[in-house]
Amino acid sequence: MTPGPVSPTFTVGLTGGIGCGKTTVADLFAARGASIVDTDQIAHALTAPHGAAMPALLDEFGTGFATPEGALDRAKMRALVFADPSARARLEAILHPRIREATAAAALVATGPYVIFVVPLLIESGSWRERVTRILAIDCAETTQVARVMARNGLDEAQVRAIMAAQVSRSARLAAADDVILNDAGVEALLPQVERLHAEYLAEAARLGGLPNGRL
Ligand code: ATP
Repeated sequence: MTPGPVSPTFTVGLTGGIGCGKTTVADLFAARGASIVDTDQIAHALTAPHGAAMPALLDEFGTGFATPEGALDRAKMRALVFADPSARARLEAILHPRIREATAAAALVATGPYVIFVVPLLIESGSWRERVTRILAIDCAETTQVARVMARNGLDEAQVRAIMAAQVSRSARLAAADDVILNDAGVEALLPQVERLHAEYLAEAARLGGLPNGRL
C-alpha cells in the first residue's frame, strides 16, 4: 500500500505586524520547499462566493451581508463588528473553528518537509502557541511598516498607525518569538536569514521524523 502524505511534525507559526513582510518571507521559504498554509487566504476562501462559511454567516447575520456575487460584504461586516463587539464574537464563533479545521486539513496534505502557518494575529489569538513547534516573527521598524503600508494600500499615516495600535506591540511579539527575521533592508538582506533558518528547520524536521514517506 502506498503511504498517504505524512503530516509534518515540525511546524512553524510565522507572524509579524502589518507590512513587516510576512508574505515576502513566506514566499522565500516556499521557494526552498517549505509548505505554506496562509490563514488569511483560508479565511478569504471561506467567505468568498460559495465559501464554506457563507451559509452559516448569512443564517446568523442575514442575507443583507452578502454581495451580489454571494461573498461576504466585508465593508458592511467591518462596520457592524466595529460598532458592536457582540457581533464580532458571533462572527469569530463561526469563522475561527472553520479556519482551524481548514488549516489543519491543509497541513495534513502538505508535501514539504515542514509546514509554515502564516498567521498575522498569532500572538493575539492565543491558541496558536500550542499548535506550532516554533514561532517566527518578521520584524521591522514601525516607520518602515508605516511607509510600506502607505505605499501599498494608499492609506495615510494615521490610518496605518490605527491598524498597528490594534495589533500586539512589537516588543510583545518579539518576546513571544523563538526566531526573528529582520526586514528593514532590501529583499537581498532576507536571503541569508531565510537560508539559515530553513537549514535549521530542515534539520529539526528530520530529527523529529516528520519527512513525508518515512525518515531520513
Ligand atoms: P500584511 O500584514 O499587510 O499582509 P505582510 O506582512 O504580508 O503584510 P508583505 O506583503 O510581504 O507584508 O510586504 C508589505 C509591502 O512591503 C509589500 O508591498 C512588499 O512588496 C514590501 N516589502 C516587503 N519586504 C520588503 C523589503 N525587504 N524591501 C522592500 N519592500 C518590501
